Amino acid sequence: MKKFKKVFAATVAASMLISMAGCGGTSSDTAEATTESTASADGGSEEAPADLTSNEGILIWATNAEFPPYEYHEGDAVVGIDAEIADYIGEQLGLEVQCEDMAFDSIIPAVVSGKADLGIAGMTVDPDRLENVNFSDPYVNAGQVIIVADGSDIASADDLAGKTIGVQLGTTGDQYVTENITDATVERYNKGFEAVQAVQQGKVDAVVIDGEPAKQFVASAEGTMILDEPLTEEEYAIAVSKDNEALLEEVNRILAEMQENGKMAEITNKYLGDDAVSTDEASAEEGSDEAVETTTAA
Ligand code: GLN
Repeated sequence: MKKFKKVFAATVAASMLISMAGCGGTSSDTAEATTESTASADGGSEEAPADLTSNEGILIWATNAEFPPYEYHEGDAVVGIDAEIADYIGEQLGLEVQCEDMAFDSIIPAVVSGKADLGIAGMTVDPDRLENVNFSDPYVNAGQVIIVADGSDIASADDLAGKTIGVQLGTTGDQYVTENITDATVERYNKGFEAVQAVQQGKVDAVVIDGEPAKQFVASAEGTMILDEPLTEEEYAIAVSKDNEALLEEVNRILAEMQENGKMAEITNKYLGDDAVSTDEASAEEGSDEAVETTTAA
């Protein structure tokens, strides 16, 4: 049983070129971020049809900015891989980008109601969600992992039965534990990092959460570690209203273009490379260490 290397806390965000657009950002921030980021290959953006989004000229993306390196707070702004993808999509469509930061389980309702045009939140494509929204083509391969305290007697998924397990409310980790782990007590937290703090404090025996945020959280929570064996294989994609096929097509076209022109690799390398972001923000944040919901699973 090996630990993932705790390389992430070491390098500070100061060294990073971080997009300041997004939640809390103003439109001038957005413009600044657009200039900072690598110019698109064709050097320009297309004019989007007037009715492509709920509010003309604006692309609103919903997220839960507690999920580094995909979305997290940097001062007043929301930054991360998804924030940069949202900015790029907006840039290509000639739309002003706005971010709505909300509880994870509010994102799909926001997309369904038209409050947000896109849900971009490290969101796993999942059959239940597909009943309510369309998903773009996937842009990340991901999966759930298990976090335990150093010296824990939990060495693999088989040891989770009967344990108290922390998850982030409404996520695929929550779903997995609730449906698959016999006699587990499931403690649900609003923020993933709160669940990791609970394992650190001995309040829960393990946490089941997505792999990349897990690395960042563990790097900020002394005495915790990730078990080697991933629990699930998942794909992240962008949620779009079932009533907006035109936007879905544009998003898929732009995602494909980002794969081809190297933009996606550039963004992911920036956040997932060895010099990836610090989670000092996350650890410094005040959080309740009380679960918002507890149930017994399977
Ligand atoms: N990938 C997980 C899900 O879709 C968690 C996402 C998140 O917490 N932002 O449920």
